[in-house]
Amino acid sequence: KREGRNSIRLFKTENHLQANKDEAIMEAELYKALEQDELTVYYQPKLDAHTNQVHYEALVRWFSPVLGTVPPLKFIPVAEKTTLIQDVTRTVVYKVCADIKQTPELFKNARTSINLSAALFEPELIENHFITIINECGVDPASLEIEITENMLMADPIKGMEIIEHLKKIGFRVVIDDFGVSYSSLNYLRSFSLDGIKIDRSFISQIDQHHSEKDISIVHFIIQLAKKLNLYVTAEGVETKEQFDILTSLGCDEIQGYYFSRPLPLEKIKSTIEHFFDY
Ligand code: C2E
Ligand code: CA
Ligand code: CA
Ligand code: CA
Repeated sequence: KREGRNSIRLFKTENHLQANKDEAIMEAELYKALEQDELTVYYQPKLDAHTNQVHYEALVRWFSPVLGTVPPLKFIPVAEKTTLIQDVTRTVVYKVCADIKQTPELFKNARTSINLSAALFEPELIENHFITIINECGVDPASLEIEITENMLMADPIKGMEIIEHLKKIGFRVVIDDFGVSYSSLNYLRSFSLDGIKIDRSFISQIDQHHSEKDISIVHFIIQLAKKLNLYVTAEGVETKEQFDILTSLGCDEIQGYYFSRPLPLEKIKSTIEHFFDY
């Protein structure tokens, strides 16, 4: 028995070492990737259900010649342990601004949202990594939207309030991402000067073929609450026509998900949107 325990401990340590090694390799590769410009930005179109205006969420992509395609949920946390997250964010902001400038027809009247990392939750960092670049490129802050996850806000709501005020003063729209995962944020919704909320995919996926009235009622409640508070409400992870129809009938303002479009490289966006509307 004792030996068994020891070997389990050894196994755990080895696993831990391996994980550290994998992380160190990824960190080194990411460092190179930034130098060699391996990161790109994909855009996921979002549909305003009232006007059919298309907006976008910018999502970073890393196609590494050494590691293959590395999903952001793998490399962002590694980047966040170091200052590499600052370089990743600068790269994303810079590429988004360049794309807006170079293809104005795709971005006409559109808002593009960028995900803010918890590691950049400081006014100085926002100044360095967003404002400088946006001013340099001459992009209107009102065409950009900053997504802050509910978890980030709830980790320190007072600081969250300050950051939101700071972003609003610059002229960005600000929305809560992954809304509803920690219900404690309900208390704070009034205090944050937000433009919108994005209902977490976990709620949207409850609306499936076998949904009950109960599954819909939480989403219905969130949409009504958002309307009462004058917030623009987006549903993320909308994959089926059924979800799309239910959400629009509940008055949801914006739909994002594979049903409308996957995240795409810039050059694929036009044809995908045209196909959806059956031009
Ligand atoms: P998120 O901000 O919640 O982004 C939504 C994720 O859901 C994206 O995954 C998107 O591809 C995926 N998605 C969109 N529609 C659907 C759908 O209908 N069904 C399903 N199953 N998934 C859908 P992605 O691109 O892998 O990004 C994962 C997370 O990585 C993001 O979650 C965000 O937290 C982070 N991330 C991505 N890009 C950036 C970035 O530029 N900066 C920072 N700081 N984080 C980023
Ligand atoms: Ca997001
Ligand atoms: Ca989200
Ligand atoms: Ca989510």
